[in-house]
Amino acid sequence: MSDYRLVLATGNRHKVEELLAILQPLMPGLTANQIATTRDLDVPDPVEDAPTFEGNSLIKARALAAATGLPTVADDSGLSVDILGGSPGIFSARWAGLHGDDEANLRLLLAQLSDVKPEHRGGDFVCAAALVTPSGEETVEIGKMRGSLAFEPVGENGFGYDPIFVPEGYDCTSAELSPQEKNRISHRAKAFTALAPKIVEALS
Ligand code: IMP
Repeated sequence: MSDYRLVLATGNRHKVEELLAILQPLMPGLTANQIATTRDLDVPDPVEDAPTFEGNSLIKARALAAATGLPTVADDSGLSVDILGGSPGIFSARWAGLHGDDEANLRLLLAQLSDVKPEHRGGDFVCAAALVTPSGEETVEIGKMRGSLAFEPVGENGFGYDPIFVPEGYDCTSAELSPQEKNRISHRAKAFTALAPKIVEALS
């Protein structure tokens, strides 16, 4: 792991690109191969049993920071629907069962909201991004993308609930946005951007 300077607790290299796009203007020398993901490391996944996005992002970041001795960033995210009191929330990935089936989750949520009027279909995508340093300093930032729930899935991009989420100010779902446009307005981008100065500090 000689070249690694930072760990991102994800198996998804796309999230590395997303984080790098935010960090590079602040740290021009930082490259993708200096950021390790869980795929690059032989560390067991911790049990994410906190009741909040913040708590779960910290569980992931603490585990990898302890195992690697490197500053570690972890994110935890989900969809929070107003009329459901914030659910699916931390259960977003397994709303229809433990299988993590995006299509089944989305269908169940649509069925639950089938008789809810457009004006009561508001919600947020929420992301908690945590940074844990080897010395034990911990920071968590929250990013939100406000929007409302559609009645039918539309669009092919993105993942999860994107086909039924219409971001505020748009007349299409987030699954119809280009990855670049979604990254510009997303909950994750906002949380990573808020965390960026702390990450730069930890790497300096
Ligand atoms: P994760 O924390 O990135 O693994 O996301 C947890 C779950 O929240 C996903 O399985 C999705 O169901 C939902 N989710 C989080 N962010 C998004 C998003 O940007 N679009 C669609 N669904 C999302």
